[in-house]
Amino acid sequence: MKTTLITGGSRGIGRACVLAFAQAGWQVAWCYRKEKEQSLALEQELKSRGLSGLGFKADVADSGQVEALFSHMEQVLGPVDALVCNAGVAYQGLLSDMTDEDWRRVMGVDLDGVFYCCRRAIPSMIRRQKGSILTISSMWGLTGGSCEAAYSAAKAGVIGLTKALAKELGPSGVRVNCIAPGVIHTQMNGNLTQEDRQILADETPLCRLGTPEEVAGAALFLSQEDASFITGQVLAVDGGIAIS
Ligand code: NDP
Repeated sequence: MKTTLITGGSRGIGRACVLAFAQAGWQVAWCYRKEKEQSLALEQELKSRGLSGLGFKADVADSGQVEALFSHMEQVLGPVDALVCNAGVAYQGLLSDMTDEDWRRVMGVDLDGVFYCCRRAIPSMIRRQKGSILTISSMWGLTGGSCEAAYSAAKAGVIGLTKALAKELGPSGVRVNCIAPGVIHTQMNGNLTQEDRQILADETPLCRLGTPEEVAGAALFLSQEDASFITGQVLAVDGGIAIS
């Protein structure tokens, strides 16, 4: 049985990935930063469907916690076959109002966190000459979003990292891909008003927002053997909103 580690798996897109991978027969581990109750509820939900999975508390912006997360989960489930770097935080506001702390938090979670997890996962994948790494960027990483400059910069960084790693790890049999979601119904967008949502839906060629399950389906595809000749790609799961 293959094993996946999904960062930020306790809710939203990560949670949908946990359920999709578990349903497809994977051993699933995930991490979350603080909402233990949501993670425990997910473990229960898996159980109720006759599946299993384990949540671990770890802040991906802290390399020590990432090391502890991998060591702990590897002891229980073995090496990671597919890493999904999903954990992320958003920040909305003018760049000129942004504090050093706010900037570091976005970079710390959205970019450093991907680096820490990839760095820790790679040696075992190279030793076994196989593996898949999937990063979750954003349409803003492709196009840039007004009042989301730090987030856009971090997510563009994730795309650069994905492409570079795909070249670096391809000869070792490890694939590295990225999903750039559009606007997806999750808590991250909880601050949007109904009117905001309608405007975003109107800007989307498919005329609606996306669901976490729609991103999870693409994540599962890219992490499985179905995608065995696909690497270095950025797949927009966005209803067409970022078509250029
Ligand atoms: P949510 O805010 O709904 O969920 C975020 C998840 O990440 C939670 O499980 C949260 O755990 C976890 N998390 C946050 N910070 C950390 C951290 N430092 N360490 C470990 N886990 C952390 O987000 P979404 O599901 O909407 O987003 C998932 C990914 O998709 C993100 O990378 C986001 O940038 C990206 N994305 C989302 C879009 C959208 O429209 N929703 C659009 C484009 C990209 P806890 O609750 O414990 O903090």
